[in-house]
Amino acid sequence: MPLSPEQLAEIEEQRTQSQATLRTVAPGIEQHLYSAKPVLDHGFVRVIDYMGDDAAICQAARVSYGKGTKSVQNDEGLIRYLMRHWHSTPFEMCELKLHVKLPVFVARQWIRHRTANVNEYSARYSILDREFYIPAPDQMAAQSVINNQGRGEALQGEEAARVLEMLKGDSMRAYDHYEEMISQDGQQGLARELARMNLPANIYTQWYWKVDLHNLFHFLRLRADSHAQYEIRVYAEAICDIVADWVPAAYKAFEDYRLGSVSMSAQMVDCLRRMLKGEQVDQENSGMSVREWREFETVIKPE
Ligand SMILES: Cc1cc2nc3c(=O)[nH]c(=O)nc-3n(C[C@H](O)[C@H](O)[C@H](O)COP(=O)(O)OP(=O)(O)OC[C@H]3O[C@@H](n4cnc5c(N)ncnc54)[C@H](O)[C@@H]3O)c2cc1C
Repeated sequence: MPLSPEQLAEIEEQRTQSQATLRTVAPGIEQHLYSAKPVLDHGFVRVIDYMGDDAAICQAARVSYGKGTKSVQNDEGLIRYLMRHWHSTPFEMCELKLHVKLPVFVARQWIRHRTANVNEYSARYSILDREFYIPAPDQMAAQSVINNQGRGEALQGEEAARVLEMLKGDSMRAYDHYEEMISQDGQQGLARELARMNLPANIYTQWYWKVDLHNLFHFLRLRADSHAQYEIRVYAEAICDIVADWVPAAYKAFEDYRLGSVSMSAQMVDCLRRMLKGEQVDQENSGMSVREWREFETVIKPE
């Protein structure tokens, strides 16, 4: 369970309090405020705060004195234009602050996105919980034979059971030693900042993560993509659901012009044009490497 009954009660209490404000309120994201959206076995994503909405993007783009909105259609058109032409600064006017609980090895990938503000749970100050990510059976997969950076078929039978036992056993043993080392029962007790170093990368950490919408879209574009590791992708997908409710027009434009789009090299565009003219084009006369040609085929082949 990602949250204890006490934590759930705290969230419920927070959700009962509201106040009148002159600020923009985006109704779609209000429903998400504070509640925890479960991810993986012990993780979650919670919206702590947000600033702006679809109209705020238009307001900034038009550098308007008032709300900056015209008709909904007009605004959607403007947002789609901005997204299509990489006019990105108006999207930076919206901000999202999340509370995320995630395994440390996922956090290592996540933290590479430098254009956000982060405050992480201190394992120097506090004691980490005995919570480890253990993959579900369908995610305990073998090394991919076609992609060095990916996974293939799920492990089966005895091998799956043995790996699961190792993952659980190593996690528990490491945590037992962590507890023993910091314990002050009849000993001095090792400092928390040192004892944590024997904990495995599947232990959970938590952080507050604040980012503007432009950089959030960049994060989602990379991490909600099928090439991203499953364990970070599920967090990105959870955030996508929240963003779709928060700024529906911007999210739709993002889906159309980023998430579902492809970028083509000059050689790819040239080959496509030659094909449309009826020319027989293959890898050898394409001017592309075998790998790029394969990527091109993936883009143009019918689903
Ligand atoms: C599928 C996948 C596989 C990956 N594999 C690896 C790997 O094997 N090894 C590895 O080390 N990383 C890997 N990464 C991480 C990747 O290289 C990036 O570090 C990560 O995706 C963050 O991207 P970013 O730098 O664009 O994001 P951000 O840090 O959010 O930056 C956003 C943009 O701001 C600009 N920017 C930010 N900071 C600077 C700066 N200091 N100088 C100049 N411009 C800046 C850049 O234009 C950047 O694109 C992988 C990422 C993905 C999605």
